[in-house]
Amino acid sequence: AKEHGGNRYEVADPDSDARAITRHGLTNRLPEALERGEFFVEYQPLIGLEDGAVLGAEALVRWGHPVHGVLGPDQFIPLAESTGQIVPLGRWVLEQAARQAREWQLDHPGGSCAPRVNVNLSPIQLHHRDLVAEIAGVLEETGLPPGALCLEVTESALIGADEDALKPLRRIADLGVAIALDDFGTGYSNLSSLRWLPVSVLKLDRAFTRGMRRHPADPVDLKIVEGIVSLAHSLDLTVTVEGVETRTQAEHLRALGCDHGQGWYYARPGPPEHLHHLSLADAG
Ligand code: C2E
Ligand code: CA
Ligand code: CA
Ligand code: CA
Repeated sequence: AKEHGGNRYEVADPDSDARAITRHGLTNRLPEALERGEFFVEYQPLIGLEDGAVLGAEALVRWGHPVHGVLGPDQFIPLAESTGQIVPLGRWVLEQAARQAREWQLDHPGGSCAPRVNVNLSPIQLHHRDLVAEIAGVLEETGLPPGALCLEVTESALIGADEDALKPLRRIADLGVAIALDDFGTGYSNLSSLRWLPVSVLKLDRAFTRGMRRHPADPVDLKIVEGIVSLAHSLDLTVTVEGVETRTQAEHLRALGCDHGQGWYYARPGPPEHLHHLSLADAG
């Protein structure tokens, strides 16, 4: 596999660390950490499977903790959600990502496929009444065209979602912002819900592609992905696959008609400059 920059550090192991880092200690310090600039955003490239072009990136937040080192989102997002601190944190990530995407666009003018950015949205944020206005505000302040932003909402967050959660999503979609159904296939979604959810991208969980890492691929996995792709395309949805780790997987997914891929085979999450190099390389 191609290695672009590689892994500069290992995200701490959540199991061993959860015991050492008390829940209380982390949540208490979160607002202060945000103020002090301890959070940072890494970007993982999104690749067009057809031609290998870099289309943009997903923003993934990290906490550079002064004592515990770099913490991955699994170690603090659930805490931030339970205390409501995800609201200011999520807003900060969105601002960073939008500003960064705008910068990429200004650096690569004239392209028909201006770089885009995907940002994860917690279900807690969906219930925050200022969300839509904040998104509109961030787009206006940064000058990022709405079509260059995609918000990822997990399937589980939308299962059984009531009107209160769907209304802001529809208003966000009306702004021209794309909405992706993240971790698709891990929940138990009713496939028919795809008809009325304001979603334009399906992000297939990597569980589906595990059986395609090597030849011969698991025939059942191939069939399932083939079926999902055909359903998604018939509903005009773009299919992105996460967790592409090998060349074999990438080849299978392209042959199955998946649109976009993301994973270690292409690039690990990294600093924004990292994407810049990839984009430049592809343009040349
Ligand atoms: P996700 O949205 O499913 O993001 C993909 C995760 O898979 C990322 O983990 C990414 O580093 C990892 N990954 C990427 N490529 C590969 C691959 O080829 N193989 C494998 N095994 N893993 C790969 P990460 O960065 O630890 O993020 C974990 C989760 O934390 C994310 O899952 C997302 O749900 C959440 N998260 C991250 N940033 C934010 C944020 O700003 N806000 C919210 N609400 N959640 C976030
Ligand atoms: Ca995601
Ligand atoms: Ca995902
Ligand atoms: Ca996932």
